[in-house]
Amino acid sequence: TAGGLTADMIDEMARKHFPLCMRYQHEELRKRKHLPHFSRLEYGLFLKVLGLPIEEALIFWRKSFSKITDDKFNKEYKYNIRHSFGLEGKRANYPAKTCMQVIMERGQKDMECHGCPFVTFAPENLQTALMSMYNVGSQDMGEISHLVKGQHYHVACTRVWEISHGVKKGAGLDGESVTHPNLYAAKSRELEK
Ligand code: SF4
Repeated sequence: TAGGLTADMIDEMARKHFPLCMRYQHEELRKRKHLPHFSRLEYGLFLKVLGLPIEEALIFWRKSFSKITDDKFNKEYKYNIRHSFGLEGKRANYPAKTCMQVIMERGQKDMECHGCPFVTFAPENLQTALMSMYNVGSQDMGEISHLVKGQHYHVACTRVWEISHGVKKGAGLDGESVTHPNLYAAKSRELEK
């Protein structure tokens, strides 16, 4: 299992290793200095499984929510963060959501930003995001749009992983396809080693 991550490593980690769902939520967090409830949960559990320990998770969220006071943070957010680490309430060790769960959640209603962007983004927005964040060129974009139209979301996401890591088509993540946002990130980090 990964470990030893600190709050200040997450920006770079997001740019290099996160799948679009988590990258998008990270960027929204930076823009809004806040995230809605379901995102705090979905993105928070992803960061936990990535290897961000509780002390660093508290630093990460406290610094990220830069428009609120310590008092508000402690009252309204600290408990839920500790809870997701199994340190409060029934002390359950909550796993991070799989792609299937993220996809089923939809999201993107009102100001929400959880969910799988391959499902929830309008086609133009998805293309812009893939071009700017993952260097997907126009040739590959046609194929990805086609996969998305056919609702093969995790195949499209696997293709983005291959393209952005310079891995040949069909090679996947060491032969696997993207079934979990944390698998996407873990395989990306492995490649860097
Ligand atoms: Fe995230 Fe999975 Fe959707 Fe990729 S397919 S963006 S990892 S939920």
